[in-house]
Amino acid sequence: MQIIVLGAPGSGKGTQGALLADRLGVPKIATGDLLRAAVRDRTSLGVEARSFMDRGLLVPDEIILGLIEEVLRSPEAQDGVIMDGFPRTLAQAEAVEGLLADRGSRIDRVLLIDVPEDELVKRMLGRARAEGRSDDTPETIRKRFAVYGEQTAPLIRYYEERGLLTTIVGLGTVREVADRVNEALGR
Ligand code: AMP
Repeated sequence: MQIIVLGAPGSGKGTQGALLADRLGVPKIATGDLLRAAVRDRTSLGVEARSFMDRGLLVPDEIILGLIEEVLRSPEAQDGVIMDGFPRTLAQAEAVEGLLADRGSRIDRVLLIDVPEDELVKRMLGRARAEGRSDDTPETIRKRFAVYGEQTAPLIRYYEERGLLTTIVGLGTVREVADRVNEALGR
């Protein structure tokens, strides 16, 4: 089962992706987590990625494509994976498709966790206080929303046209949203 969880920053895609991965018994792979680990470990990829992340910008596709290739080719990803935080651009979407096609696989479903923007801002500011993420300042939050609208939101249409998109109402408790996700997947 190859599932993409799509959503704006603060939509809860990470939380819902993790719950779904547990239920399906497949790994959840988040490029944001991999990048933060690289930043922490001060790898050359991490050092390069950090300057973009701290400004609320997307890390360039050249860097992300290598990362995606590595994770999708890893043995634990062979029986399916929940993709959280990627693809985020059309180039990444095409790369994911190509990598899956190479092994005779394809994306089964794209879940869009849909949350109104005022609620997203409220959640992100709360998370900034709770987790102290360096990219959760008011300015970067604004920037990340703009970047989402410009570079990632076009994927909604892209997957809609391919008949793969299911929109999940992302308001309510974690449990309520998880129930909607499970229902959408017929489980
Ligand atoms: P996230 O944890 O998914 O919100 O990602 C945090 C930050 O990591 C983003 O604001 C981007 O700077 C970077 N990032 C994560 N995933 C990607 C991706 N697929 N493409 C480009 N940048 C990414």
